[in-house]
Amino acid sequence: MIAHTPRIGCLALQGAVEIHRPHIEACGAEFLSVKTPARFDEVDGFILPGGESTTMLRLIETFNLWKSLAENFAKKPVWGICAGTILMAETVLVNDNLSSRDNKDGQDETQKSFGLLPITVLRNGYGTQLESTQTEIEGYPVSFIRAPVIKDAGDVDVLASYDDNPVWVQGKGERSNYMASTFHPELTMKFPSPMHKKFVELVRRS
Ligand code: GLN
Repeated sequence: MIAHTPRIGCLALQGAVEIHRPHIEACGAEFLSVKTPARFDEVDGFILPGGESTTMLRLIETFNLWKSLAENFAKKPVWGICAGTILMAETVLVNDNLSSRDNKDGQDETQKSFGLLPITVLRNGYGTQLESTQTEIEGYPVSFIRAPVIKDAGDVDVLASYDDNPVWVQGKGERSNYMASTFHPELTMKFPSPMHKKFVELVRRS
């Protein structure tokens, strides 16, 4: 249980970062956008935002942030959203029909990830931008934007499903500080979203 106001850091390399601020502040927590190891150490929990996982990975490598992020993720709650879910997954499959990469032999390619949750995700698994859609989860409007599909979930709690696939999951036991959603709740201007509430609670209890 942390005694101070929880400090939630959103990894600010690329993607939808600032838009989390009003949700986090509506939960009575502090919002910080973070992109350096010194800042990572200051926060109590991390949001890995939606955006492009390949771009984020490239920037993590370019700025040599992998080790510092992995060390922080090992001891603090993490919530991945869409691209962030991809970064958290144990196995990442690339939808090669939609990938710009040349994959002539039709084998599933895989993508590097932090492996925080025992899930297998298929990037862009719902299809192209045209298949992006909105729905309600727990009565709250959310958006799926070139979202990954969680193809396989190991030992996790499924907090919500959509079209027969888990879309919001939380780890169990040692991994119960990790949650991931393949949809974006932060784009809805009704603060806070139930997902932000849940994550801030997780950080408060950690
Ligand atoms: N398709 C993106 C990726 O593979 C994720 C999209 C999103 O975060 N909205 O990283």
